[in-house]
Amino acid sequence: MDDLYLTGRSTSSQRPLDRLIKTLKQKGIRNQHVLDVIRKTPRHAFVDEALAHKAYENKSLPIGHQQTISQPYIVARMTELLLNQEEPMQKVLEVGTGCGYQTTVLAQLVEQVYTTERINALLIQAKKRFRQLGLYNIRSLHTDGQWGWETQGPFDGIIVTAAPKDVPKALLSQLKVNGRLVIPVGETTRQRLRVLVRRENHFERQEFEPVSFVPLLGGQV
Ligand code: SAH
Repeated sequence: MDDLYLTGRSTSSQRPLDRLIKTLKQKGIRNQHVLDVIRKTPRHAFVDEALAHKAYENKSLPIGHQQTISQPYIVARMTELLLNQEEPMQKVLEVGTGCGYQTTVLAQLVEQVYTTERINALLIQAKKRFRQLGLYNIRSLHTDGQWGWETQGPFDGIIVTAAPKDVPKALLSQLKVNGRLVIPVGETTRQRLRVLVRRENHFERQEFEPVSFVPLLGGQV
Protein backbone atom coordinates (compact mmCIF):
# COMPACT_ATOMS: atom_id res chain seq x y z
CA MET A 1 0.00 0.00 0.00
CA ASP A 2 3.07 2.23 -0.27
CA ASP A 3 1.72 4.55 -2.93
CA LEU A 4 -1.22 5.53 -0.73
CA TYR A 5 1.02 7.90 1.15
CA LEU A 6 1.68 11.45 0.02
CA THR A 7 5.21 10.63 -1.01
CA GLY A 8 5.12 12.37 -4.36
CA ARG A 9 7.12 10.99 -7.25
CA SER A 10 7.91 7.53 -8.55
CA THR A 11 4.50 5.91 -8.09
CA SER A 12 2.72 4.04 -10.85
CA SER A 13 0.23 6.90 -11.08
CA GLN A 14 2.83 9.54 -11.91
CA ARG A 15 2.33 9.64 -15.68
CA PRO A 16 -1.47 9.89 -15.58
CA LEU A 17 -1.05 12.54 -12.86
CA ASP A 18 1.28 14.56 -15.08
CA ARG A 19 -1.34 14.40 -17.84
CA LEU A 20 -4.02 15.53 -15.40
CA ILE A 21 -1.91 18.51 -14.30
CA LYS A 22 -1.43 19.48 -17.95
CA THR A 23 -5.21 19.38 -18.45
CA LEU A 24 -5.82 21.51 -15.34
CA LYS A 25 -3.31 24.11 -16.58
CA GLN A 26 -4.93 24.13 -20.03
CA LYS A 27 -8.30 24.70 -18.38
CA GLY A 28 -6.92 27.76 -16.60
CA ILE A 29 -5.72 26.67 -13.14
CA ARG A 30 -2.83 29.00 -12.29
CA ASN A 31 -2.11 28.51 -8.56
CA GLN A 32 1.12 26.49 -8.50
CA HIS A 33 0.61 25.39 -4.87
CA VAL A 34 -2.75 23.88 -5.81
CA LEU A 35 -1.27 22.13 -8.85
CA ASP A 36 1.64 20.76 -6.78
CA VAL A 37 -0.72 19.34 -4.16
CA ILE A 38 -2.97 17.70 -6.76
CA ARG A 39 0.13 16.19 -8.34
CA LYS A 40 1.08 14.46 -5.12
CA THR A 41 -2.40 13.38 -3.98
CA PRO A 42 -3.23 9.75 -4.85
CA ARG A 43 -6.80 10.22 -6.14
CA HIS A 44 -7.08 6.47 -6.84
CA ALA A 45 -7.15 5.92 -3.07
CA PHE A 46 -10.47 7.80 -2.86
CA VAL A 47 -12.48 5.60 -5.23
CA ASP A 48 -13.44 1.94 -5.43
CA GLU A 49 -10.66 -0.30 -6.71
CA ALA A 50 -12.73 -1.11 -9.81
CA LEU A 51 -12.65 2.59 -10.79
CA ALA A 52 -9.03 3.25 -9.85
CA HIS A 53 -7.91 3.16 -13.50
CA LYS A 54 -10.11 6.21 -14.15
CA ALA A 55 -8.93 8.15 -11.11
CA TYR A 56 -6.63 10.52 -13.02
CA GLU A 57 -9.13 11.45 -15.71
CA ASN A 58 -10.71 14.86 -15.27
CA LYS A 59 -14.06 13.32 -14.35
CA SER A 60 -16.32 12.94 -11.37
CA LEU A 61 -16.87 9.29 -10.38
CA PRO A 62 -19.47 7.48 -8.25
CA ILE A 63 -18.53 6.72 -4.61
CA GLY A 64 -21.77 4.99 -3.55
CA HIS A 65 -24.73 6.38 -1.57
CA GLN A 66 -25.69 8.28 -4.77
CA GLN A 67 -22.71 10.59 -4.26
CA THR A 68 -19.62 11.39 -6.34
CA ILE A 69 -15.98 12.36 -6.03
CA SER A 70 -15.70 15.82 -7.57
CA GLN A 71 -13.98 16.39 -10.90
CA PRO A 72 -10.30 17.33 -10.31
CA TYR A 73 -10.74 20.60 -12.24
CA ILE A 74 -13.57 21.65 -9.91
CA VAL A 75 -11.52 20.75 -6.81
CA ALA A 76 -8.59 22.76 -8.17
CA ARG A 77 -10.81 25.69 -9.18
CA MET A 78 -12.65 25.94 -5.85
CA THR A 79 -9.39 25.63 -3.91
CA GLU A 80 -7.82 28.35 -6.07
CA LEU A 81 -10.83 30.64 -5.49
CA LEU A 82 -10.69 29.96 -1.74
CA LEU A 83 -6.97 30.76 -1.49
CA ASN A 84 -7.15 33.85 -3.70
CA GLN A 85 -5.94 36.31 -1.03
CA GLU A 86 -2.71 37.63 0.43
CA GLU A 87 -2.87 36.13 3.93
CA PRO A 88 -2.49 32.39 4.46
CA MET A 89 -5.67 30.59 5.52
CA GLN A 90 -5.61 29.03 8.94
CA LYS A 91 -9.05 27.59 9.63
CA VAL A 92 -11.15 26.25 6.77
CA LEU A 93 -14.54 24.56 7.00
CA GLU A 94 -15.65 22.11 4.32
CA VAL A 95 -19.29 21.08 3.95
CA GLY A 96 -19.63 17.68 2.21
CA THR A 97 -16.61 15.47 2.97
CA GLY A 98 -17.75 12.69 0.63
CA CYS A 99 -14.73 10.49 -0.05
CA GLY A 100 -12.39 13.13 1.43
CA TYR A 101 -10.44 14.09 -1.69
CA GLN A 102 -11.11 17.84 -1.51
CA THR A 103 -10.44 17.68 2.25
CA THR A 104 -7.06 16.06 1.58
CA VAL A 105 -6.12 18.71 -0.97
CA LEU A 106 -7.09 21.47 1.48
CA ALA A 107 -5.25 19.87 4.40
CA GLN A 108 -2.00 20.23 2.47
CA LEU A 109 -2.57 23.95 1.86
CA VAL A 110 -4.06 25.37 5.07
CA GLU A 111 -3.31 24.93 8.74
CA GLN A 112 -6.48 23.22 9.96
CA VAL A 113 -9.44 21.74 8.09
CA TYR A 114 -12.85 21.13 9.66
CA THR A 115 -15.01 18.90 7.49
CA THR A 116 -18.68 17.92 7.83
CA GLU A 117 -20.65 15.13 6.15
CA ARG A 118 -24.30 14.05 6.54
CA ILE A 119 -23.74 10.39 5.48
CA ASN A 120 -21.89 8.65 8.29
CA ALA A 121 -20.82 5.65 6.17
CA LEU A 122 -18.90 7.99 3.84
CA LEU A 123 -17.35 9.89 6.72
CA ILE A 124 -16.06 6.70 8.34
CA GLN A 125 -14.28 5.72 5.11
CA ALA A 126 -12.89 9.22 4.61
CA LYS A 127 -11.48 9.32 8.16
CA LYS A 128 -9.72 6.01 7.51
CA ARG A 129 -8.11 7.53 4.41
CA PHE A 130 -6.93 10.61 6.33
CA ARG A 131 -5.21 8.31 8.85
CA GLN A 132 -3.63 6.18 6.12
CA LEU A 133 -2.34 9.30 4.39
CA GLY A 134 -0.87 10.61 7.64
CA LEU A 135 -2.99 13.78 7.68
CA TYR A 136 -3.49 14.96 11.25
CA ASN A 137 -4.80 18.51 10.70
CA ILE A 138 -8.34 17.43 9.80
CA ARG A 139 -11.24 17.37 12.26
CA SER A 140 -14.50 15.88 11.07
CA LEU A 141 -18.11 15.82 12.18
CA HIS A 142 -21.15 13.78 11.17
CA THR A 143 -23.78 16.51 10.89
CA ASP A 144 -26.04 18.49 8.60
CA GLY A 145 -23.39 20.93 7.40
CA GLN A 146 -25.74 23.65 6.23
CA TRP A 147 -25.64 24.82 9.85
CA GLY A 148 -21.86 25.07 9.75
CA TRP A 149 -19.80 24.06 12.81
CA GLU A 150 -20.57 26.79 15.26
CA THR A 151 -18.34 25.71 18.14
CA GLN A 152 -15.26 25.73 15.89
CA GLY A 153 -16.01 28.93 13.97
CA PRO A 154 -15.49 31.60 12.84
CA PHE A 155 -13.47 30.44 9.83
CA ASP A 156 -11.06 32.11 7.39
CA GLY A 157 -12.68 30.15 4.61
CA ILE A 158 -15.64 27.87 3.95
CA ILE A 159 -15.97 25.58 0.94
CA VAL A 160 -19.26 23.83 0.16
CA THR A 161 -19.08 20.81 -2.14
CA ALA A 162 -22.83 20.16 -2.53
CA ALA A 163 -25.29 22.64 -4.00
CA PRO A 164 -28.04 24.49 -2.13
CA LYS A 165 -30.69 26.61 -3.90
CA ASP A 166 -29.68 29.57 -1.71
CA VAL A 167 -26.61 30.29 0.43
CA PRO A 168 -27.23 28.99 3.99
CA LYS A 169 -27.24 31.98 6.38
CA ALA A 170 -25.45 30.05 9.14
CA LEU A 171 -22.38 29.68 6.91
CA LEU A 172 -22.21 33.43 6.28
CA SER A 173 -22.39 34.08 10.02
CA GLN A 174 -19.45 31.72 10.67
CA LEU A 175 -17.05 33.62 8.40
CA LYS A 176 -14.42 35.94 9.90
CA VAL A 177 -14.18 39.49 8.52
CA ASN A 178 -12.38 39.08 5.15
CA GLY A 179 -13.26 35.37 5.25
CA ARG A 180 -14.25 33.71 1.97
CA LEU A 181 -17.11 31.33 1.16
CA VAL A 182 -16.88 29.28 -2.07
CA ILE A 183 -20.17 27.60 -2.94
CA PRO A 184 -22.15 26.28 -5.92
CA VAL A 185 -25.63 27.83 -5.87
CA GLY A 186 -28.66 26.95 -7.98
CA GLU A 187 -31.09 24.29 -9.11
CA THR A 188 -30.60 20.52 -8.90
CA THR A 189 -28.69 19.87 -12.12
CA ARG A 190 -27.07 23.18 -12.88
CA GLN A 191 -25.52 25.74 -10.58
CA ARG A 192 -22.98 28.53 -10.66
CA LEU A 193 -19.87 28.85 -8.49
CA ARG A 194 -20.15 31.82 -6.19
CA VAL A 195 -17.59 33.49 -3.93
CA LEU A 196 -18.77 35.64 -1.02
CA VAL A 197 -16.24 37.67 0.98
CA ARG A 198 -17.29 39.06 4.35
CA ARG A 199 -16.32 42.71 4.83
CA GLU A 200 -17.01 44.83 7.95
CA ASN A 201 -20.55 45.77 6.94
CA HIS A 202 -21.39 43.82 3.82
CA PHE A 203 -20.61 40.77 1.67
CA GLU A 204 -18.80 41.08 -1.67
CA ARG A 205 -20.17 38.67 -4.24
CA GLN A 206 -18.61 37.23 -7.40
CA GLU A 207 -20.07 34.66 -9.79
CA PHE A 208 -18.01 32.17 -11.77
CA GLU A 209 -18.58 29.27 -14.18
CA PRO A 210 -21.57 26.90 -14.31
CA VAL A 211 -21.07 23.65 -12.37
CA SER A 212 -23.04 20.51 -11.61
CA PHE A 213 -22.91 19.32 -8.00
CA VAL A 214 -25.05 16.85 -6.07
CA PRO A 215 -27.66 18.72 -3.99
CA LEU A 216 -27.05 19.90 -0.44
CA LEU A 217 -29.60 17.90 1.55
CA GLY A 218 -30.99 18.45 5.02
CA GLY A 219 -30.64 16.08 7.98
CA GLN A 220 -28.11 13.30 8.52
CA VAL A 221 -28.04 9.55 7.88
N1 SAH B 1 -15.79 17.00 -1.29
C1 SAH B 1 -16.11 15.80 -2.06
C2 SAH B 1 -17.39 15.97 -2.82
C3 SAH B 1 -18.40 15.06 -2.28
S1 SAH B 1 -19.97 15.08 -3.04
C4 SAH B 1 -14.96 15.39 -2.96
O1 SAH B 1 -13.84 15.79 -2.71
O2 SAH B 1 -15.15 14.64 -3.90
C5 SAH B 1 -20.88 16.03 -1.88
C6 SAH B 1 -21.04 15.48 -0.50
O3 SAH B 1 -21.83 16.41 0.22
C7 SAH B 1 -21.77 14.14 -0.40
O4 SAH B 1 -20.98 13.21 0.28
C8 SAH B 1 -23.04 14.47 0.36
O5 SAH B 1 -23.48 13.44 1.23
C9 SAH B 1 -22.61 15.69 1.15
N2 SAH B 1 -23.70 16.54 1.63
C10 SAH B 1 -24.86 16.87 1.01
N3 SAH B 1 -25.61 17.65 1.81
C11 SAH B 1 -24.90 17.83 2.96
C12 SAH B 1 -25.15 18.52 4.20
N4 SAH B 1 -26.27 19.20 4.40
N5 SAH B 1 -24.20 18.47 5.14
C13 SAH B 1 -23.04 17.78 4.96
N6 SAH B 1 -22.76 17.10 3.84
C14 SAH B 1 -23.68 17.12 2.85
